[in-house]
Amino acid sequence: MTAKLINGKEIAAQVRAKVAQGVEARRQRGLRAPGLAVVLVGDDPASQVYVGNKRKACQEAGIVSFSYDLPADTPQSTLEDLIDELNENPAVDGILVQLPLPAHLDADPILVKIRPDKDVDGFHPFNMGRLAQRRPELRPCTPAGITTLLDSIGTPYKGQHAVIVGASNIVGRPMAMELLLKGATTTITHRFTDSLEQFVREADIVIAAAGKPGLIKGEWIKPGATVIDVGINRMADGKLQGDVEFDAAAQRAAYITPVPGGVGPMTIAHLLENTLYAANNLHTDQD
Ligand code: NAD
Repeated sequence: MTAKLINGKEIAAQVRAKVAQGVEARRQRGLRAPGLAVVLVGDDPASQVYVGNKRKACQEAGIVSFSYDLPADTPQSTLEDLIDELNENPAVDGILVQLPLPAHLDADPILVKIRPDKDVDGFHPFNMGRLAQRRPELRPCTPAGITTLLDSIGTPYKGQHAVIVGASNIVGRPMAMELLLKGATTTITHRFTDSLEQFVREADIVIAAAGKPGLIKGEWIKPGATVIDVGINRMADGKLQGDVEFDAAAQRAAYITPVPGGVGPMTIAHLLENTLYAANNLHTDQD
């Protein structure tokens, strides 16, 4: 392997330590601890693990976590009433509704109901719009976390070609807006792209977020490129695999993220950053 590993665990730990310092600085100024409400509907095992990790990370950073675990048959109106209540609660700086929701629930009206200044996932059209218009406020966590990883290795961005594989609302699209903001020439590819290989071969930065194990062949990677693998694919043997052929890609790339231990930890770290940001900058009347 010639590529340097980008250690997401280590960088996320640094971000979380900085958040903890920010929380402590508030305490010393006599301000309340930031609060994050985490809403989980149903008993999907993966969601339970994610929510558990988020709550634990809050605790470690000194953020108060309010837990709402609702049964799988919760009606839409009950969930919407809870969002109304949390929107009004002055101890709550951030509201996170863990996705996916059970099939009978419609996520869109729920996410739009979250007050934009408490939308720490950054999925509300207001926050996506702010990012699109180059004035980001609460930024979607996974793309913002990836930007922190790219910054950590001194990515020059300007003059570089970034190719994003995947165009979802939570990863691909906001990632493109983050990279545009940084000055990279940005291409988004998706399931209807004809010549994925050709695009990837030209990329100085590859962001793989399709959810297809091994979709990006190692031999496609331009020598010296930076490869960020967002994919999390659970294989038959129980192991996690990314979207990139790691071993072959690492022979050509200058930098590469592992799966697990690359992008994953950054998502939670940025959630904590958003919660502190909301408390410090958007809710000064709630102190
Ligand atoms: P999604 O299913 O919503 O979107 C996948 C995107 O990939 C779509 O835009 C689709 O068009 C594109 N795609 C599918 N096949 C393709 C192909 N052959 N060529 C090019 N594009 C193709 O998925 P998502 O929610 O954006 O998640 C993507 C992956 O990232 C998943 O593995 C998910 O588990 C992972 N993920 C990781 C984190 C993290 O914190 N590490 C966060 C979010 C998502």
